Amino acid sequence: DAKGNRKQRPGEQDDKDMYVHVVDRNSEGVFITGCKMHISGAAIEHELVIFPTKAMRKGEEEYAIACSVPANAPGVTMINTTYAPHGKDTRHFPVSAKINSPEAYIVFDKVFVPNDRIFLDGEVEYASTLAYSLGLWERSAGGGYGDRVDRIVGLAALAAEMAGVANETHIHEKLSTLMIFATMCRAGSDAAMHNAVKNEDGNLMPSTLYTSATKYYHAELHDKMIDIVHDIAGTLVVNSPTLADYENPAMKPILDELFQVPGYTTEDRLKLYHYIRDTTADSYGGWSSVTGKQAGGGQYAQRLVTLRNFDLDRAKDMAKRIVGVGGYDAETPFI
Ligand SMILES: Cc1cc2nc3c(=O)[nH]c(=O)nc-3n(C[C@H](O)[C@H](O)[C@H](O)COP(=O)(O)OP(=O)(O)OC[C@H]3O[C@@H](n4cnc5c(N)ncnc54)[C@H](O)[C@@H]3O)c2cc1C
Repeated sequence: DAKGNRKQRPGEQDDKDMYVHVVDRNSEGVFITGCKMHISGAAIEHELVIFPTKAMRKGEEEYAIACSVPANAPGVTMINTTYAPHGKDTRHFPVSAKINSPEAYIVFDKVFVPNDRIFLDGEVEYASTLAYSLGLWERSAGGGYGDRVDRIVGLAALAAEMAGVANETHIHEKLSTLMIFATMCRAGSDAAMHNAVKNEDGNLMPSTLYTSATKYYHAELHDKMIDIVHDIAGTLVVNSPTLADYENPAMKPILDELFQVPGYTTEDRLKLYHYIRDTTADSYGGWSSVTGKQAGGGQYAQRLVTLRNFDLDRAKDMAKRIVGVGGYDAETPFI
């Protein structure tokens, strides 16, 4: 949703359309108005499944609406954004030119939804269940930090090798920092699945606590890790000649001389630096840096989920036992 002033409830907003809501109804169905924002891939889908973005309270029934709307239903307008490179040599955007998907502002202007396409209509007590289920899976998908993070380590190691500094002490320190980050992200993702819970329908859901904590950890440190990649790869990340320059017969011998290193061609090096630029310092890089922090909820949301799911009573009870307060005799202290 557009959400307006974040501190005001949906019904308190100056403009009622800040959250998608029911504006009219008849015996055949309801009419909805509002805007769902940043919706991944909406313009390439046939059907839009809409549900409340957060818990709704008594009195907010008009906002407790979940339904399915065809993407081309009358009254639906989409405004798309994309990080796909436009009109450029796509070889310099090896990832963003191939892997891109639009995000849409989906505007609903009195869109009619027939009764058989409505899943929730005013039952405020179920609104958060739907929002929670999207958030958990989005965080879990965004937090599938296995090979994705290992690849960042690999890019940095390759850049160090090409610069001839792979065996420098400070490079070892930086690579080990990246490796620890990658290993902790993988451990968090594995723990989320290892501690999965089966819901009433028999579906396995990743652990809420591990999923949110890992997403938070990754988002908090991701940009610092990218700083390390940039430190190792150097200015060539943003200042590499284009592949078209390299293909120019007048420039090729000059660049071959300047870029020569054992084991790799000039083209290998240009491809690596353009890859690092595209994925960490340009189109895809900017998008994924912000998306890693926002999609599935921002850092504050992950902290709230952690506060709600961490077993604080157990932790406090353990503290009381070892200190010997709250009716406990002191146990052998932990070292
Ligand atoms: C690439 C991408 C794809 C996305 N795809 C989808 C999608 O398919 N479907 C979908 O539903 N959403 C999608 N989203 C939206 C995503 O869920 C939101 O961006 C995310 O929940 C954060 O909301 P926001 O951007 O409105 O941040 P904001 O709410 O504007 O946050 C700004 C700041 O305000 C703080 N804040 C917000 N509310 C409060 C409050 N009540 N009290 C105190 N502080 C507050 C936040 O913590 C943050 O610091 C996508 C986002 C991205 C980046």
